[in-house]
Amino acid sequence: MEKIVSLCKRRGFIFPACEIYGGFSAAYSYGPYGAQLKKNIKDAWWKKFVEERADIVGLDGPILLHPKLWEASGHTTGFNDAMVDCKECKKRFRADHLVKDLTGKDLEGDLPAMTAALQGQKCPECGKSNWTDAKMVSMMFKTEMNGFDGPVYLRPETAGAIFVEFKNVVDSCRVKIPFGIAQIGKAFRNEIVARNFIFRTREFEQMEIEYFFDPEMPWEDLFAKWLDWQEEFFTEIGIDKKKLVRFEHSKEKLSHYSKKTVDFEYLYPFGQSELCGLAHRGEFDLGAHSKLSGQDLSWTDSATGRKFTPNVLEPSFGLDRALLAVLDSAYTEEDIPLSGGVDGASPDGVGDVKETRIVLKFSPKIAPVKIAIFPLLKNKPVLVEKAKSIFDELKKDFACEFDDNGNVGKRYRRQDEIGTPYCVTVDFDTIEKDDTVTVRDRDTMQQERIKAAELKKYFEDKLK
Ligand code: ATP
Repeated sequence: MEKIVSLCKRRGFIFPACEIYGGFSAAYSYGPYGAQLKKNIKDAWWKKFVEERADIVGLDGPILLHPKLWEASGHTTGFNDAMVDCKECKKRFRADHLVKDLTGKDLEGDLPAMTAALQGQKCPECGKSNWTDAKMVSMMFKTEMNGFDGPVYLRPETAGAIFVEFKNVVDSCRVKIPFGIAQIGKAFRNEIVARNFIFRTREFEQMEIEYFFDPEMPWEDLFAKWLDWQEEFFTEIGIDKKKLVRFEHSKEKLSHYSKKTVDFEYLYPFGQSELCGLAHRGEFDLGAHSKLSGQDLSWTDSATGRKFTPNVLEPSFGLDRALLAVLDSAYTEEDIPLSGGVDGASPDGVGDVKETRIVLKFSPKIAPVKIAIFPLLKNKPVLVEKAKSIFDELKKDFACEFDDNGNVGKRYRRQDEIGTPYCVTVDFDTIEKDDTVTVRDRDTMQQERIKAAELKKYFEDKLK
């Protein structure tokens, strides 16, 4: 994990936010490559689940929503986690996580049992044993709004906006049950402890779908299909399938309205934890909003006239956790011959001296930069000019970067570390011989010579 965190900072993927003021409560900023990577993951998700499907439409609702929404969904009173403080060193912990770490027991939700389980257990921070009782605290971020009486909340999940716009979508679009509404956006949770880099933060992004279906329809097959689609998406963005685990919640742990919930867990460097979930939420949400708003949120079957409240399956993806899993799956270290060669002209190295190459083996689909273009030498205008003209041409169709800093070996190492699938080098043969350039493949480090005029077609085939 330390290696990933340090690479992210060094190469402009993710920075601790507000470092000039000493950092701020485990918040992170996505730097230039991180922001692009995140966008590419979002775009891949939107394409797969909205654009390529006839049965799912998109939505972009507000972060500040009517507080009644959170009353109906149960968040205002029930969205709580248990906390406990060490009375000696004042360190605060999430009680269920601490109990699990120290005793191996899962006592989530049972305050007296967690308090009892911690008696005699040593604080991981100071080694003493003097705990407060475990108590519930709300994870809702409260704020105020001009012109509105009473507290307003930053949304703790994106799903809420989908349910309150269900009727508008049904009335304005030609959707037919079963169908889904998808949304990507920020969510906010006042987590007791934010930790493990971008895995658990207080501000994060979700990509959620509410998939509405007839309660009389057998749902087990649909549920299984959704699990497969979720897994398919993860493998498409380069998450290592071998590190994905399906975890079904036991009947006792299910919310009262849920018939089944399965999480995908991922083997993160710090341990196995939730990546995303799929829940059968029955008619709970539409039912609760119907009741509190007094609006009819049912569906009428046009063929039979039968009226019902649709049931819903909720595939809920955490974008930041997906990005962390992508980084972890892509991170590779390889021992290779020392780079540089003669005049940097044999850039992936020769001889027996080894160096460790760090490479992010991103799927080309989500790599922030697809092609890097270099002149072999920075001080030869004829090479620079040609490389720039290739860059200007290719950047119309692909995310490209121009680099003439240091020798070619160093440039390759840098592009490896940001996961660029291809590097193009303009050398003297390009100018003096045959107008070909070298194209170097990130993963094999093999180079081939391609006609400059054919590069666009070459990359269209490689990067599609
Ligand atoms: P956890 O048990 O880890 O707190 P959760 O079960 O409460 O997660 P959900 O309410 O199911 O999470 O939210 C859906 C998804 O949103 C999660 O699978 C996860 O990917 C993401 N997510 C939830 N909380 C956070 C957070 N604090 N930071 C980053 N991502 C989060």
